[in-house]
Amino acid sequence: MTNGFRKAAFFVVMLVMVTGLSSWGFLVHKTVQQLAIYQLPAPMTPFFYGHADQLIYDAVRPDIRRNTDSTEAPKHFIDLEDFGNEAAHRMPLKWDAALKQYGKDSLLKYGYVPYQVVFLQQKLAEAFRRKNRDSILFYAADIGHYIADAHVPLHTTHNFDGQLTGQNGLHSLWETVVPEVEIESYKLYTNHHAQYLKEPEQAIWKAVRQAHALLPAVLAKEKEVSQNFTDAEKYRIQVRKGKEYKYYTSAFAKAYGAALKPTVNNQLLASAELIADFWYTSWVDAGQPDLSAIANWSDAKQAAYQQEYLLFQKNELLQHNKLQAKKKESGNR
Ligand SMILES: [Zn+2]
Repeated sequence: MTNGFRKAAFFVVMLVMVTGLSSWGFLVHKTVQQLAIYQLPAPMTPFFYGHADQLIYDAVRPDIRRNTDSTEAPKHFIDLEDFGNEAAHRMPLKWDAALKQYGKDSLLKYGYVPYQVVFLQQKLAEAFRRKNRDSILFYAADIGHYIADAHVPLHTTHNFDGQLTGQNGLHSLWETVVPEVEIESYKLYTNHHAQYLKEPEQAIWKAVRQAHALLPAVLAKEKEVSQNFTDAEKYRIQVRKGKEYKYYTSAFAKAYGAALKPTVNNQLLASAELIADFWYTSWVDAGQPDLSAIANWSDAKQAAYQQEYLLFQKNELLQHNKLQAKKKESGNR
């Protein structure tokens, strides 16, 4: 059942990508990766800003990998209800202990995103230690993706698409359509500076718990807002290859986004902050290596960074066409 749904949900996601929207949509995954860069300390900036295009572009790679790699999906979510009562507070922090308690099959079936994040943190630290440019970029992009996924309430539940409560399509509504229609009004800056995580497991679990705690409102607001919409106003039907697909309309997404406010925006910013913390923590754990030889840095880049950083602080990246995920012209590879 679950797998069938996930396949169906994935198919819808693929369609959404084809129609120009994307999964957290591609918009948010790319945006949080970019915002995380501005929160790093000076010694890390040349490397991360110097390679920003690639980091941002690769922010969605794990979702694309799901297409070809059958082991990929459970890294993106955790269906907490399937791990027992109060699982968000009771699950072991360490993968080995979780394996012992639940067995591999359960973890592969019901998802293990928090463990994936900690696993990648170690990989990233190792890449920093070796000062291997490609490995650092690979693991930094990947860990950013999974951290962001852990902030999406519907990535923490077996009712991941609202399918158990008659709210099918809620997944992409919350994480893709709402940000697409609302981003102009979002706060896309934070005065957070990357912090060292003494207990990375606690940090990612805290994020999972917070996301999960938002779930009742995510579901309830959809019902609430629906009372003001007829079915024809709420959904649009698209026929593709003889099959009918139901999507929430932009009008509904706007009303739902307004009802949720500022939840989605907050989760977006919290994702970016924790990504910066994990990148920074991995770098510190590696002994704060000097990255200048692999940094792709120049005077021109430095000037561009300074200009962008000011726009970031003023929440004006978008207006000045500096938000990569929304960049007009050649910004999106
Ligand atoms: Zn994902």
